[in-house]
Amino acid sequence: MTAETGAALHALVAGLYPICRSITGDGLRRSLDMLRRHVPLAIHEVPSGTAVFDWTVPREWRIRDAFIEDSAGRRVLDFRASSLHVVSYSAAVDAVLPLAELRRHIHTLPAQPSVIPYRTSYYAEAWGFCMAHDALEALPEGLYRARIDAEHLDGSLTYGEYLHRGETEEEVLLSAHCCHPSLANDNCSGMAVLAFLAARMAGRRTRLSYRFLFAPGTIGAITWLARNRETALRIRHGLVVAGVGDAGAATYKRSRRGDAPIDAAMAHVLQHAEPSARLRDFSPYGYDERQFCSPGFDLPVGLLQRSPYGEFPEYHTSADDLDFVRPEKLAASLALIENALSILEQDRHLRNAFPFCEPQLGRRGLYAALGGDPDAARRNLAMLWLLNQADGSRSLLDIAERAALPFATIAATAAVLEREGLLVPD
Ligand code: ZN
Repeated sequence: MTAETGAALHALVAGLYPICRSITGDGLRRSLDMLRRHVPLAIHEVPSGTAVFDWTVPREWRIRDAFIEDSAGRRVLDFRASSLHVVSYSAAVDAVLPLAELRRHIHTLPAQPSVIPYRTSYYAEAWGFCMAHDALEALPEGLYRARIDAEHLDGSLTYGEYLHRGETEEEVLLSAHCCHPSLANDNCSGMAVLAFLAARMAGRRTRLSYRFLFAPGTIGAITWLARNRETALRIRHGLVVAGVGDAGAATYKRSRRGDAPIDAAMAHVLQHAEPSARLRDFSPYGYDERQFCSPGFDLPVGLLQRSPYGEFPEYHTSADDLDFVRPEKLAASLALIENALSILEQDRHLRNAFPFCEPQLGRRGLYAALGGDPDAARRNLAMLWLLNQADGSRSLLDIAERAALPFATIAATAAVLEREGLLVPD
């Protein structure tokens, strides 16, 4: 993956970052429009009030402006400076209040006094602001005007979807939530990486089909699942992608099943690409894998992130900004996913057609064929492992694991042996 890719990914994150997204509304639409410059997303609008399993599609949130003004008319908090300043989905307000009363509606992080927290109030009607604790403490007593020019109205919930058709209808689901406002890693990084992946996939012939979903967290995934129960039956593998641009090592959370092919593929890729990567078992807390892995669906969907959600100080604060997201980490995350997908594409069971003693490789020119390759020793080893282990019971990935060799080496060597008739499909 080139430095150019990293820079282009970061530029897309930077474009998405300032937009005030929420679970519904124009910020979400504008973000999906921005992704459409890279991938021809189909945009779906689901009317407010639509029943989706045990939930209801909420009303649409529109926000035009928000501020807190002191008695001299100066804005001491301004939504235009950061979309985090307003509690996401906040009710409207226009009131003049003493500071002591206003404080009850202002969220801060006293332990991290210089950053603005991210807060939501999706399913309880409330109004509120978020600001740096230091900034709040600096406000003199007095009267302030609190204004949030917003409304909830019957509209729709928006999500974007793109299907790359492969030779089979078996699908890989790749999903990123896109409901957070100005947080660069959580969720702009996931949106950017998956948009680029979809664009790169468009020109490729693949065995599997790939479905990309860009939807607001929780309610978006629930809405998609409620409208796509038949489609969900075709999902063979899946990955939720979120928070993939920070400097931390990759973290993969296994699917609920724990032993799905995506779990084995991600574990293999991480072990070879990022030895400090973390593997975790499924838990019912996190991102939209919670919905995909609910027991009625139990889809084989894992979660790829870097620093795990909730475990780093920048999480859900204004410190999750454009500097927190690194171009090279975005590109590395894209490469990790592509490597895992290439395992899903190529993994198969082969059988040694000459299982009685080793076949004579020299006579077939197979050692020579690899002679000029600086990787030759490794490839020769891969050949011996394949011929020994390919008895039909083990997949190429199983053999790569047993041989402690990268899947790509095993797969490339297997292709050579197949051409020579030494390995045959099982
Ligand atoms: Zn989040």
